[in-house]
Amino acid sequence: MKPPVAPSLNPLTLKERMKVSRQAMPEQDAAQRSSAFTEVNLGYSPELARQEALRCLECAKATCMQRCPVGVKVKEFVQFLVAGDFAAAASKIREDNVLPAITGRVCPQEDHCEAGCTLGKAKNVKPLGIGYLERFVADYEQRMGIRHLPKVPPMGKKVAVAGSGLSG
Ligand code: SF4
Repeated sequence: MKPPVAPSLNPLTLKERMKVSRQAMPEQDAAQRSSAFTEVNLGYSPELARQEALRCLECAKATCMQRCPVGVKVKEFVQFLVAGDFAAAASKIREDNVLPAITGRVCPQEDHCEAGCTLGKAKNVKPLGIGYLERFVADYEQRMGIRHLPKVPPMGKKVAVAGSGLSG
């Protein structure tokens, strides 16, 4: 027997969600940027993150998830953002990805999850800002000093990591 489908927490109709524009990421202004080495992109505020999350259509066949190389449960973490439960969103991402602050910044989402997003298949509608949302969640976790690492059963084996970058 299939588990019951949880009711949506999104107050917008599907039509209304399609009309909400993709939220732009705030950036440092040019004058400040010209004399600093800090990150140009400033990340979403909680309000912007929730506004962007409200655009998700909660597709029955979430093609965004099928296009994610590590299988992040995009639809589920975005619904936690809609509910304003950012810690639960972080926990959901970390079930499949322990480096969300990095992948939220450098993963080519336009070729993966966002390329699969149903929203982007409609005329003049941009895909959900999944990478921006992932980055927001990871930065929120860091600001709040919380970290949800998934429990890994002991394997009784040792491994060596070659290289210190992402490929390592
Ligand atoms: S495909 Fe896009 S709209 Fe559909 S569940 Fe995934 S993120 Fe949401």
